[in-house]
Amino acid sequence: MSREMDKPLISLHLVDSDTSLAKVPDEAPKVGILGSGDFARSLATRLVSSGFKVVVGSRNPKRTAGLFPSAAQVTFQEEAVSSPEVIFVAVFREHYSSLCSLSDQLAGKILVDVSNPTEQEHLQHRESNAEYLASLFPTCTVVKAFNVISAWTLQAGPRDGNRQVPICSDQPEAKRAVSEMAITMGFMPVDMGSLASAREIEAMPLRLLPAWKVPTLLALGLFICFYAYNFVRDVLQPYVQESKNKFFKLPVSVVNTTLPCVAYVLLSLVYLPGVLAATLQLRRGTKYHRFPDWLDHWLQHRKQIGLLSFFCAALHALYSFCLPLRRSHRYDLVNLAVKQVLANKSHLWVEEEVWRMEIYLSLGVLALGTLSLLAVTSLPSIANSLNWREFSFVQYVATSSGGNTGSGSGRPEFQSQDPHLPALHHQTSVLGSRSFCCSLVSVSTPYGHREDLSWTR
Ligand code: NAP
Repeated sequence: MSREMDKPLISLHLVDSDTSLAKVPDEAPKVGILGSGDFARSLATRLVSSGFKVVVGSRNPKRTAGLFPSAAQVTFQEEAVSSPEVIFVAVFREHYSSLCSLSDQLAGKILVDVSNPTEQEHLQHRESNAEYLASLFPTCTVVKAFNVISAWTLQAGPRDGNRQVPICSDQPEAKRAVSEMAITMGFMPVDMGSLASAREIEAMPLRLLPAWKVPTLLALGLFICFYAYNFVRDVLQPYVQESKNKFFKLPVSVVNTTLPCVAYVLLSLVYLPGVLAATLQLRRGTKYHRFPDWLDHWLQHRKQIGLLSFFCAALHALYSFCLPLRRSHRYDLVNLAVKQVLANKSHLWVEEEVWRMEIYLSLGVLALGTLSLLAVTSLPSIANSLNWREFSFVQYVATSSGGNTGSGSGRPEFQSQDPHLPALHHQTSVLGSRSFCCSLVSVSTPYGHREDLSWTR
């Protein structure tokens, strides 16, 4: 087991097959790493391939040397920290104190804290790991960085995933030096200010979809309410009133009836706050007032609510496709055929029902297509490739398709001399015209810049 753990994440065969890892020029800047675990190995590989000279400090260099690229020097901790100016501390917080014997050699150097606390440690310690390291080594400059990058990403190199590396330190020079290293390694440094921000940076990997909590609970609550209603209507009522056992409908049929209701309500909750925000701005006659907190939060969660609406609609489509596959449906068909034969009817064709179903299906497919378009344009890679006009256009076309039924020119019907109000003309024109719910895409925020109020941004 322990031998398994000693293996690098990517085999050294692959690592050393890259000739750039075999030799680094003598004049290359030297970087130290304390620790020889997963993170240290990946970091050494990335640093070597980015043109740095790497010296790794281990308590047992003989045991670990074979796990590093051949261009990296693996030696004892004392030797490793003697010459580099920047030293990465790739050990866990509880072992920081074991490094105190190196205090003299480390004096005046930059220590990069890459550690991540567990959730329990994060709650337990009031000071961040980086601040704790700084308190142990007061003669060093501590920089918090790279903790949000996994060992795997480091070794494989930044590709499509998130390249951002939040960095903080009390020393701007040290922060700049580490930021430049991050750029050379292919990452994008994000300046988070002083070392006091380290706790916030350390909390980042602990987060679990914080923006999704409220929208998910909302969707779940709506689902339970609608499911209960449909259960009473489609299952309980026939059972009580007619003694018909329709409990088989619970897993598929009732779920399928519930999903579009949830999708519709969620979709309306995406656009409703935009209408409320616009109305509020019109009433106040200015955009330079903060929205109430509840509205602000609501506006910020529109993207998640919209994607959940799309998820419910997509599930509804899948369930609908599966309906004819159910055994109960086949029994129903056979029973109907038998009844027809017994009634001596050879041809069953109800024109109105046929048309109704054709239109129903067609509208359903169109609605799902529209919702898919909105969902796809909410993907950051696609949204970022569109300019503001293109994005608004997609939003407008997608949300107004089929909705323009009233009268109105669509031009501003509300003019004012107030310099703040031109920002409201768009909403006013929209409110004055017919499809206002789909055009609330350019309300000015209380923060003084234009922000999209449609759900995809
Ligand atoms: P690991 O595989 O367990 O390695 C930890 C290393 O610490 C050991 O290999 C050991 O190297 C060294 N060490 C130094 N003093 C020690 C002591 N007194 N007792 C035990 N070990 C000691 O852990 P890791 O995954 O590389 O993580 C290292 C640090 O990087 C942690 O702070 C972690 O939070 C952070 N990090 C890791 C990842 C990741 O994906 N793994 C991502 C982000 C941040 P020697 O035996 O050679 O001295």
